[in-house]
Amino acid sequence: MYKTHTCGELRAEHAGLIVTLSGWVHRQRDHGGVTFIDLRDRYGIVQIVGDATQPRLAALQQARSEWVIQVTGLIRLRPAGAENPNMQTGQIEIAATDVQVLNPSKPLPFLVNKDEDTDEALRLKYRYLDLRHERMQKNMLLRHNVIKFIRDFLSDRGFLEIETPMLFKTTPEGARDFLVPSRLQPGTFYALPQSPQQLKQLLMVSGFDRYFQIARCFRDEDLRGDRQLEFTQLDLEMSFVHRDDVLAVIENLFTEMVEKVLPNKRLLASPWPRLTYTDSVERYGSDKPDLRFGMELYNLNDILAKSDFMVFQSVLKVGGAIKCIVVPGCSEYTRREVDELTTFVKELGAKGLATLALSAEGVKGTAQKFIKPEEVDAIKSKTGAGTGDLVLFVADKKDIANKCLSALRLLFRDRLKLADPNVLAFAFVLDFPMFEWKEDEKKWDAAHHPFTMPKMEDLPKFETDPSSILSDAYDMVLNGYETASGSIRIHRSDIQQKVFELLGLSNEEIHAKFGHLLEAFEYGAPPHGGIAPGIDRLVMIFADEPNIREVIAFPKNQSGRDMMADAPSEASAIQLGELRLKLDLRKDEEKKP
Ligand code: ASP
Repeated sequence: MYKTHTCGELRAEHAGLIVTLSGWVHRQRDHGGVTFIDLRDRYGIVQIVGDATQPRLAALQQARSEWVIQVTGLIRLRPAGAENPNMQTGQIEIAATDVQVLNPSKPLPFLVNKDEDTDEALRLKYRYLDLRHERMQKNMLLRHNVIKFIRDFLSDRGFLEIETPMLFKTTPEGARDFLVPSRLQPGTFYALPQSPQQLKQLLMVSGFDRYFQIARCFRDEDLRGDRQLEFTQLDLEMSFVHRDDVLAVIENLFTEMVEKVLPNKRLLASPWPRLTYTDSVERYGSDKPDLRFGMELYNLNDILAKSDFMVFQSVLKVGGAIKCIVVPGCSEYTRREVDELTTFVKELGAKGLATLALSAEGVKGTAQKFIKPEEVDAIKSKTGAGTGDLVLFVADKKDIANKCLSALRLLFRDRLKLADPNVLAFAFVLDFPMFEWKEDEKKWDAAHHPFTMPKMEDLPKFETDPSSILSDAYDMVLNGYETASGSIRIHRSDIQQKVFELLGLSNEEIHAKFGHLLEAFEYGAPPHGGIAPGIDRLVMIFADEPNIREVIAFPKNQSGRDMMADAPSEASAIQLGELRLKLDLRKDEEKKP
């Protein structure tokens, strides 16, 4: 038997027991004739003591960091004064009677018994060692607990977990597909699902009125801190529901999860706040607002309508917006600090940044000489700005003003520590536009995905003004992240056809890509809707991590490589031949038009 107990479970009440433990040497030290080893497994660390000059204990001294050893010994209370209150097992130690080396270890490329700033590339190359860190072990445990909670909660409420295929057909969610060449049908490709969207809708047609899946999704897009090529979502779909039925399941699920799984966190508000998309963008400059703090955006078009300032006038003339945020306590910012903020917004596309510093000695700032005293008073009373505050203005196209001020708002959130890291500000954003215009491609695109139900009352606008069509789509947001998207779906093939047509798909394309779905809708499709919370992002936030890589066991690096296995890698000529593929590795510029 390798072990009778785990290292982490032993306490004072076990004193007197003879136990066998197996684990890794976390630390080892010699104290004149007595050798101490901290032995680690995933449950914790326990102290082993012994006189390594005894033949059966010689391994105590031979062993080095991260060797795997087996220890038999007697649990005893530590001598008075030698207890360690910082260790769960700190009341006791094991007086070893036998120590065996199960496997030695080479010196590690980095320490795993400390959280040091190890190079990211090295961590990813030796991910299996990196995962030995206490922090990573905790993250994996948290992830497991979150997923287990979801499975239990939904199963208790009649949801069925059903797996759907990975080798499928294009399921657009706004990204590029990953294609898998078929050997059996040369020249054809499967697409890995960007989500199980169509499949879960087809399951509704089959009558599985409450479905969920802890689903892997694949999207070939550029990687970011909160984005990987493959990620996991809780995919959920329900039949015979309206929007609020879906939202209630999600709100209850995460509210109860916080209580049961995240004892250090608390909800900002219950019931969760709900904002329309328009309201969210107007007040926070973003459709994924961080609601843990205020600092809302204000539109000053009315107050500054008669401003003498040319910049403001010209923006108003072309239908732009003059918006501001109030930064508390920063009226004494130096010229250099303001210049840095200006560079920051210019990089986001703004032409400039104007400031009004409400300092104790009077109003200062770059906009001071252009804004009349009565306008300053009106701004103060609209925004609540007071002495000591710094007002930042962006006058530009509305979306640029929103984007810049939203980014500034988050910058000051971090700089001034305005958001409590232990608060979870869940909220729903509702009533998204159905379509967005893609200027580059000169075509409409689905803002969510093309299976989203437009608001019934907006159906006539398909012919007149697609930009103003709202959809029955909703997002769950949390602390400044979009953490779920969902919608009520189209279940009528005539409406689905209308949407595809507006998106510029020809009848042949519609048939080739989505024929199976349109046909299914003709066999008694129930009204249905769903949502899909992103597990990686949620666990990242719950674990206070800055990046989803920290909560994924084997993630890709920023350029989409698995540094450990060195993937993607080349295929052999035989493999390519079987797939009937020929490579063209010329650079784009070398190719003939
Ligand atoms: N399939 C959608 C997504 O992955 C979620 C949904 O609409 O349920 O974003």
